[in-house]
Amino acid sequence: MANYKDYKIATIGSHTALQILKGAKDEGFETICICEKGKDRPYRSYGVADQIIEVDSFRNFFEIEQQLIDQNAIMIPHGSFVAYIGPEKMMDLKMMYYGTKGILEWESDRNMEREWLLKAGIKLPRVFSKPEDIDRPVIIKFHGAHGGKGYFIANTPEEFYAKYKKYEGKKGHEEFAIQEYVVGVPVYTHYFYSRLNDELEVMGFDKRYESNADSIGRVAAKDQVDVGIDTTYTITGNVPIVLRESLLPEIFEMGQRVVDSSKTIVDGGLFGPFCLEGIIDPELNYYVFEISARIVAGTNPYVNGSPYTWLRYNEPMSTGRRLARDIKEAITADKLDKILG
Ligand code: AMP
Ligand code: AMP
Repeated sequence: MANYKDYKIATIGSHTALQILKGAKDEGFETICICEKGKDRPYRSYGVADQIIEVDSFRNFFEIEQQLIDQNAIMIPHGSFVAYIGPEKMMDLKMMYYGTKGILEWESDRNMEREWLLKAGIKLPRVFSKPEDIDRPVIIKFHGAHGGKGYFIANTPEEFYAKYKKYEGKKGHEEFAIQEYVVGVPVYTHYFYSRLNDELEVMGFDKRYESNADSIGRVAAKDQVDVGIDTTYTITGNVPIVLRESLLPEIFEMGQRVVDSSKTIVDGGLFGPFCLEGIIDPELNYYVFEISARIVAGTNPYVNGSPYTWLRYNEPMSTGRRLARDIKEAITADKLDKILG
């Protein structure tokens, strides 16, 4: 029987690293945090990293990869990891990596993502192929945008062009998607699927705390117009949610269909943590505008577990810890192939 103590868990210092490293330590692993110079303080202060490796920039990650390989470290990818390394470079990684790399291509291309989710029978907001077709409120999302920065809303083609002016010719703003703006409340569902027991779990929910979308209600409508405030969605944090219980059967079904359909698009399918991100309207339709095929930062409020993981585990179980447990069980059962991509 292989010993999990022969392996270490590594991630890069941002996004969900605190939770991942803490969860790994709780499962008995030694941990490594890769930090950009000058950004290591939280990881030292909270005591979650047994080892800190500093780099000038995450873009230089490949310079230290061999050090991680020598230590038998398994990389846990998160939103910042993919954002900084770049989805196209992920295939060059040589170290052990938790997750299915092949799914990244489906997740990072809006058209492929849409095809996958439609296959899974998920409701999606309408998309408009050109600004001239805009006939209702829409949200414009730039492909290069990170964390919702620079999104804007328009109601007509004229309004689109008036607002687009300020982005024209700017790098990263050449390509964009025009999506129907769904009026309702944002709900992000955190799932975990293990290939070891073939079981799908719902770990929790969150909504994002976005500037300035979440502050506009603090200003009277008249003043919003006077001051010329445009709605933007820069992510600043996450707020926990507990969902109306009668919605849970559908939430499980949706997640299951996404897992099942993933097996038809990439070898081995999606596993580990993933998240459906969308809006629930007053008729209780859940429109999904995005899937993240890895741990999302919305799980961060639940370092000590969520109400849902408490129901199932009776011990603190964050998504980071659940992931470490998956790894531990795979190593112990000699089934590493079930968790490495
Ligand atoms: P950062 O390391 O904070 O610059 O984040 C890298 C990427 O991860 C961002 O571009 C966001 O898309 C995503 N991200 C970071 N933090 C959060 C968060 N709290 N909630 C949702 N997404 C996030
Ligand atoms: P995203 O970066 O795609 O997760 O979107 C950032 C934010 O934009 C979300 O948290 C929502 O508040 C909002 N949003 C995105 N797409 C839609 C949509 N189709 N309808 C309404 N709001 C949306």
